[in-house]
Amino acid sequence: MIIVLKPTADKTQIDHIVEKIEKLGLKPWVSEGVERTIIGVIGEEDVVRTLPFEGIPGVEKVLTILKPYKLASLDYKNTPSEVNIGKGVVIGGKRAVVMAGPCSVENRQMLLDVAQRIKKSGALILRGGAFKPRTSPYSFQGLGEDGLKYLAEARDKTGLLIVTELMDIRQLDTVMEYADIIQIGARNMQNFDLLKEVGRTKKPVLLKRGIACTIKEFLMSAEYILSGGNFNVILCERGIRTFETFTRFTLDINAVPALKSLTHLPVIVDPSHGTGRWGMVNAISRAAIAAGADGLMIEVHPNPEDAFSDGDQSLLPDKFVRLMKDTAKVAKAVGRTM
Ligand code: PEP
Ligand code: MN
Repeated sequence: MIIVLKPTADKTQIDHIVEKIEKLGLKPWVSEGVERTIIGVIGEEDVVRTLPFEGIPGVEKVLTILKPYKLASLDYKNTPSEVNIGKGVVIGGKRAVVMAGPCSVENRQMLLDVAQRIKKSGALILRGGAFKPRTSPYSFQGLGEDGLKYLAEARDKTGLLIVTELMDIRQLDTVMEYADIIQIGARNMQNFDLLKEVGRTKKPVLLKRGIACTIKEFLMSAEYILSGGNFNVILCERGIRTFETFTRFTLDINAVPALKSLTHLPVIVDPSHGTGRWGMVNAISRAAIAAGADGLMIEVHPNPEDAFSDGDQSLLPDKFVRLMKDTAKVAKAVGRTM
């Protein structure tokens, strides 16, 4: 439910309403707009509906949010959210932000080399997995905390920010210490306990779409994080499983405008996992920006043939330079910078 306040509502009236909501064991979410303040009330639908808020001073009207996701919806906030990562980097603003780097952090030197190359090409954020979700238990599982240390060193040397995956609640504090953005991978999109934990922090979270999850389920997972108090959520479309086997996944380009019509959260696209083929990554990056994506996540490797993971979809640094140039033209055509 949303309580829309009168433009004249003052702080005493707002505090009074907040207090009333809390007394009923419900959670108020105050959103201060330019013209007026609104208060979202989250809790048992039946309890919420019985509240007599319309008679309280300062209240203009009370609306019910019919969607199952509340805080993520445009009903709660109808202007695009910008997620501030630090060092002036914002996701969801005019500039389409590119995150790039190897699938896995394999060793210190290769990470530092890739970081320098992608920085020169205009990427703002370095990606790299230190804890890797692998289909086979016999595949490389990541370097763990050593990998995080290399990422932090690369950040110090280049000024890039870093995004890396958190797979397990037990690693939360460690990953929090190093990462600028915590990535929740496709396989953990519905790990609700993990979502609740990152929801208790204020760290930006990159939530990747599950491989068999609908847009509604995707937004419900985002809602878990928001309802914990963390509004710094970035959604990432990374392809879903369909009957098609030519590509590794089917990148759901529809998801970009669909999400934009439902949520205020920024949306980025990962054409590397979405295609599984490096030769398609440039075209799909351009398509994503044309469709309105707020950024891209791209896998780049100095020697994809020998990559520990996802070599087939990783771009050589030179090919990444090309991608940045080609995609910047599309960004310009749709009124964005890159
Ligand atoms: C990744 O980004 O390396 C990754 C494992 O992504 P996803 O969770 O989308 O498969
Ligand atoms: Mn990967």
